Amino acid sequence: KAKYLTKVTDLTKIILENAIKEGDIVVDATVGNGYDTEYLAKKVGERGKVYGFDIQKIALDKTKERLQKNDLLERVSLILDGHENMDKYIKEEVSCIYFNLGYLPRGDHKLITKAETTILALEKSLKLLKSYGIISIALYTGHEGGLEEKDAVEEFLANLDQNYYNVLKCNFINQKNNPPQLVLVEKKMVFKERQI
Ligand code: SAM
Repeated sequence: KAKYLTKVTDLTKIILENAIKEGDIVVDATVGNGYDTEYLAKKVGERGKVYGFDIQKIALDKTKERLQKNDLLERVSLILDGHENMDKYIKEEVSCIYFNLGYLPRGDHKLITKAETTILALEKSLKLLKSYGIISIALYTGHEGGLEEKDAVEEFLANLDQNYYNVLKCNFINQKNNPPQLVLVEKKMVFKERQI
């Protein structure tokens, strides 16, 4: 059993510990069973706000219940729509956008995030993110379509201008059976007109 290097998403939480402040506005781009939505809702505090997206009503219903139980629902907007449409709902700058790609655990394994819509959502995320904001993306390759999505996401992010963004990739290099991989993006503060 490991204590510190357990899951790649534990690393995200270390970064977000500092990157998300009380009162911030953040996005859970893939709500699923709501574990990450709950984590984000706690981080932003009473004055903060979380926008949560999922295309499955069952995911949002379960998450609503989870948030209600923990008295967190008031600070979360759960939206039954794809993250590729996030700009329709979010008009403010946000400090974090959290993607946990793939399928809903214990749900329909056919309903997966897809390269094309994920890239669209990432383009929109880059625009909504404020300076020093973080996008976290957990990628899975064990299911059909997962590898294509991971390759598309990596290619898109690897080509971001380093004057504006830092992009970090982390993965376990000794684990079998397609462990999840993590990509983190920070939007840099720039002091001249931003190009992207
Ligand atoms: N973060 C979640 C949690 O804490 O339980 C797990 C997320 S799960 C791996 C991925 C979720 O993405 C699924 O619930 C799926 O329905 C959702 N999804 C698929 N396509 C989507 C899209 N275009 N926009 C938003 N969510 C999508």
